[in-house]
Amino acid sequence: MSEETIFDKILKNEIPSEKVFENEHVLAFRDIEPQAPIHVLVIPKRKMESFADLADADPRDVAAFMQGVARVARELGLDENGYRVVFNTGRDGLQTVQYIHAHILGGRSMKWPPG
Ligand code: 5GP
Repeated sequence: MSEETIFDKILKNEIPSEKVFENEHVLAFRDIEPQAPIHVLVIPKRKMESFADLADADPRDVAAFMQGVARVARELGLDENGYRVVFNTGRDGLQTVQYIHAHILGGRSMKWPPG
């Protein structure tokens, strides 16, 4: 059993968040410390801990999650100018919350390479 995280609590409405999209598979809410004009986190309702877990996941869950991320970006009006999707993964990836989440960053031109 994995440890309960802040995102488990957001999903259960135990702590508040600024939700921007929800469907059967995913929940999206604004990051509390935005790194771009638009910074939204997308989590699957069926919990996984990190991007690495996708390797063993049911492909239908992976597809529903990825499609959810793209739909959130579209709902946010980001399709025309583009955006960045980031999965910080594990220690070297600087993942701080052990509940898989996609960062959608947009509303400005990004820089490359990332740090
Ligand atoms: P990570 O480094 O794990 O990829 O990113 C976790 C993200 O969650 C960070 O960008 C951080 O600002 C965000 N975050 C942490 N706690 C909360 C919270 O309670 N509410 C919201 N909306 N975002 C949070």
